[in-house]
Amino acid sequence: MFSAVRACVAPALLLAAVSAPAWACTPVDFMSRPVPEASDAPALDALRLAYPDLQVSTDGTAVSADGETWVTFRGPPPASPEAALANPSPADQFMQVYPLGDDLSGRTQPYFDPGRFRNQRLFGMLWFASEGAARQSLVRVPFGGLADAAVMVTSHRGVDCQLGAVLDRLRASEQDLSRYFRQPGGGFNWRRISGTDRLSAHSYGIAVDINAELGGYWRWTGAEAGNVGPYENRIPAEIVAAFETYGFIWGGKWHHFDGMHFEYRPELILHSRIVQGTR
Ligand SMILES: [Zn+2]
Repeated sequence: MFSAVRACVAPALLLAAVSAPAWACTPVDFMSRPVPEASDAPALDALRLAYPDLQVSTDGTAVSADGETWVTFRGPPPASPEAALANPSPADQFMQVYPLGDDLSGRTQPYFDPGRFRNQRLFGMLWFASEGAARQSLVRVPFGGLADAAVMVTSHRGVDCQLGAVLDRLRASEQDLSRYFRQPGGGFNWRRISGTDRLSAHSYGIAVDINAELGGYWRWTGAEAGNVGPYENRIPAEIVAAFETYGFIWGGKWHHFDGMHFEYRPELILHSRIVQGTR
């Protein structure tokens, strides 16, 4: 009897050890965590849920991560999409609702780029104001089991943990997804976005480019800004869903498509769920 019990327990323990995440952390599943059923301020609610240390002023007009430096939440309406991209307010980051799942239809509309609008003061507050500070937080996240490669991302706010959870999910896939993770475009890189003077999300260590050859990037097509043609997607929905679950948006949904690019923006995932009433 005793040995029969042991025989039952031992394989279970073995299985648990094999399937345990490689990351000593508890990742957040942003697709299933509870969100308000209704909200008068979905953008602020999403920001507070995504970044619990973020404070909102009593009149709701400014946000702060340390209680000392405040960023005005809403500015005058941008004169054009280009102006919004160049200098969005934090509120402008939410003017387009990021489409969850396999909905790629939005990108036919010029400047439908939910997630490309980034207020640099807010990002500096939530993430890093200098390259040195960003570098001190970096962690190497290996793609082992998918590909012999790795990227550097920040450990701040558990981004490395969230990426680890994405990779663990994809390692368990029935499909062979290895080619998407070979020769990745990279993670941390303190740099300006091509053709602009704005810092890339890669500067904060919150973005990951997977295989650039399979991803596709609008600038490589020779298209003009605001007039980008069709995007021939080769990234499986399973990969997009895994990233979105753990808080990363995908650039393949943008008019100015960047199909290799995944970016940790849990506030946009939560905002989408609050607005769409998906729970
Ligand atoms: Zn990228």
